[in-house]
This record gives sequence, structure tokens and C-alpha cells, in this order.
Amino acid sequence: MEQIAQRAATGTLPSWEQVDGIVADAYRYASQDTGGHVADYIPALASAEPDLFGISVAQTDGATHGIGDVDVAFTIQSISKAFVYALVCDLIGHDSVRERIGVNNTGLAFNSVIAIELNDGHPMNPMVNAGAMATTALMPGASAEEQWEAIRSGLSAFAGRPLRLDEDVLSSEASTNHRNRAIAQLLHSYGRLDRDPSQVVETYTRQCALQVTATDLAAMGSTLADGGVNPITGERVVSATVCRDTLAVLAANGLYERSGEWLFDIGLPAKSGVAGGIVAVCPGKAGIGLFSPRLDSAGNSIRGRLAAAHLSRALGLNVFASEAVVTGSASQIVT
Ligand code: GLU
Repeated sequence: MEQIAQRAATGTLPSWEQVDGIVADAYRYASQDTGGHVADYIPALASAEPDLFGISVAQTDGATHGIGDVDVAFTIQSISKAFVYALVCDLIGHDSVRERIGVNNTGLAFNSVIAIELNDGHPMNPMVNAGAMATTALMPGASAEEQWEAIRSGLSAFAGRPLRLDEDVLSSEASTNHRNRAIAQLLHSYGRLDRDPSQVVETYTRQCALQVTATDLAAMGSTLADGGVNPITGERVVSATVCRDTLAVLAANGLYERSGEWLFDIGLPAKSGVAGGIVAVCPGKAGIGLFSPRLDSAGNSIRGRLAAAHLSRALGLNVFASEAVVTGSASQIVT
């Protein structure tokens, strides 16, 4: 961990110029790392350019910052789970999603079949593949096509622009996702999917193949940081309650089996994906979009994690960091 002073999380962001300088520092610091490997279990991802790196910050007041490859498109992958979960909660209510899907960490890999068996077919949380597919199945819609359209337009509203499918990644994953098909069939056998399992896998695979940039991820994160209103477009996407619930789920489950370490080091709800994206959210302050395709062994972007750690400390984003209030500084109530 980099030796950099931790600022308290309370208060507001520094000035635009200071934030911009700190974003540049985070970029320089994290660029030095060349460890990790590009994901290859989806064949089309193996050809990603490993040196790409971008950091984007979207403040809740609408100001933005970007450095590096912030406009390079990559597939959203698992990060879609966070936003589909938010949309489904907004449409059908938090309580029924909680009962059907759950919020607890499995402690096992994102595509674990054992986790389903150990929990009597309960998917456990919406950030592992079982829970994500069960969440996608809950999206209202008379047909798979209607469900897909609701997902595509909902994620686009989070980003503030129309998101497009990466057809190459979609067909590459669709021809190799035997494990996800097995998970959907297993959930179906436990009565946990009300829709056709192969259609659910197809819609889920599509949502993972939507193209985003680091700039998009920052806008999507800032919508969750801003009580559900996209600060750049001004559009309300989900309710403030849904944002709070989504961020709690991300804090517990967003970084695969490293979620505890991430929260300990960085102190922000976040979600990563195997194409190298990470979205991190500081409620009330900003959304951060990070992109670098080299991953650690759990599937998290290494440079993304280093940059997030720098930003969290230098900008005072860690939601657990406080400073003692100077005695006597509170305003006195004179009666
Ligand atoms: N589409 C990928 C899968 O389901 C997403 C994986 C990820 O980003 O964690 O395997």
C-alpha cells in the first residue's frame, strides 16, 4: 500500500484544480505497475491491449475529470450486475429482491456452483453469477426482448448516453459460457428462476457485453452517489433508497473474494469486471470510473485498485475515515 496521508471522509471535495491534480498523481502512481494478466476465459477478451489505462471522476455537482484512455470502449461485464440490481429493485421493490436473491457474501468465486449447493439453491447475492442471473430474470417484461430493452435503456440512463453491444464479445462468450448455463439450470432445478433458463443466460450475457468507457463508469457511479439522479444529464434513474441499498451490497460483495480487503484499504463501495473496469462510489461526492485490463488472480484490475487507493486517501473518500472534532468547535445552543 502506498504511503500517502489519509484525509477524513467528512466534508466536501477539494477544489476542481486540486481534484484534477490528485487524479493526475493517481494516474502516474498506478501507471508504474505492470503486473497481472488480461482475462482470457472469454476468448475475445484475450486480445485486449494490456497497457490501456484511464481514470475518470464525475463529481455530484456535475464537474468531471479524466486522464489517459478514458474514451476507449470495453465491455462492462460484471459491473452490469450492480446497475441491473438497482433497476430491478427500483421496479419491483427492495424487499422482494432481498428475499429472492439475498445480500450476503459467499466467500467463493463469482461463478461458483458449490455456493449454490451449499445454500440449498439460494443465489446469496446479486454480484455473483447465480444471483446476477436470478436478478436479471426478475426484470419486468412480457418477453426476453422487452427485458433486454429495459436493461439496455436503464444502463444507458445511468451512463447518460445510449450504450451499444459488443457483438464480438457477445458471440465469443455465448459460445463458451457453459458454466453460466449450468448455473442457470441448477437455479431452475431449485425453483429459483421463473423464466426459461437459456433465455435468462442470453439476456445476462448481453448485459455483460454492453460497451462502456471509464467516462461512462464515472457517470454511472456518480448517479449512485447522487441519490439516483445522473448529475450530468439531470435525469432521475432510480430512487435514493435504491442507491443506498445498492451501495451496501457493493461494499459487501463488489470485488469478488477480495471485497473485504478492498473495503479495508479503500473504504468505498465498488464493482469490478473481468474486462478491467471498476466503478467506485463515494456517496454525496463522486463516482470514479477506472479501466486497465491487467487483473489480479481474483479478477480485479490491478492499476484500477492502486489508483482507487490513491484517490480515496488523497481526496478523503474512505467512508470510514473520520477526524476528532476539536473540542469547543461545535456551535453552542444558548437558551
Ligand atoms: N460475463 C462474465 C461472466 O459471467 C462476467 C464476469 C465478470 O466480469 O466477473 O462470466
